[in-house]
Amino acid sequence: MPKEIAEKIFFMPGRNQGAFPFCNSVFIDDEIRAIIDPASNKKDIAELKNIEMAILSHFHTDHIRELRVLPDVKVAIHESEADALIDVNKVVDMVFLPEEDQDEKISWLEGKKRELQTEQRTWVVSRKFKDRDEISLGKTRIKVVHAPGHTIGHSCFWFPEHEILFSSDVDLTMFGPWYGNACSSVEQFLLSLEKLKSFQPRLVVTGHEAGIIDGSEFQDRLEKFKAKLFSREQKVLDALAKPRTLDQIVDLGIIYGEFLQKMPGLRVPEKRMIVHHLRWLEKQGKIKNDNGCWVLL
Ligand SMILES: [Zn+2]
Ligand SMILES: [Zn+2]
Repeated sequence: MPKEIAEKIFFMPGRNQGAFPFCNSVFIDDEIRAIIDPASNKKDIAELKNIEMAILSHFHTDHIRELRVLPDVKVAIHESEADALIDVNKVVDMVFLPEEDQDEKISWLEGKKRELQTEQRTWVVSRKFKDRDEISLGKTRIKVVHAPGHTIGHSCFWFPEHEILFSSDVDLTMFGPWYGNACSSVEQFLLSLEKLKSFQPRLVVTGHEAGIIDGSEFQDRLEKFKAKLFSREQKVLDALAKPRTLDQIVDLGIIYGEFLQKMPGLRVPEKRMIVHHLRWLEKQGKIKNDNGCWVLL
């Protein structure tokens, strides 16, 4: 059930406490009725009548799935991800590293098309925004805060009048940052976290789990979230006390820990996230690849 958190602004909790594959949504009941990240709960979203605009933080299915129950809705998304939304085939290059298995890519894409019902879609991308753009819905203004790293176009949304921040997948969970797509980046994620530090929200709405966080907790939660990323980086460096191949580092389960053994499907994002750590460490001049093995410098 939507819960009013400011004038005309409603929090829509995701199913299963907003855990993946659901997310928390925000509904704005203004002159233009809009929803941010429509994937909280199909039934609740379908009951919202006359939704004119869907504002998306990024292209992930767990944030856009219920576009399928919003007929003729106009979609707004960061300019770097608009093509992937218009042509779902383009998502593959944003998600998969070039060297990954071709058959995997095809079957993954077919699954996405079925889930999003792309064949029957009636929504259109009508707005490609960039950092600091303003979206006006009547009385309510939303400022775009481009915060890449999770994905290339990942954006948070700032309601200046109400000092509310929708932080999407800067979700401030105990798990920490997730950067398991080809278009993700550890370096960009860190820069985005620095950028968000300058905000002093009254309320934060996260894309997953916590949902609503009091502004007084924001800086602390942001620091803890960032610390997870640095602790993983340190584990990668510790692992390179002896030379290791990428697969040997992946075997250590630095990101997913014990879950990597229990859920083999997690090996794919584990590997991509380790790749992003290695890229960032290489760029900082801390490691290099020597004949297929990663070594400290
Ligand atoms: Zn995401
Ligand atoms: Zn998400």
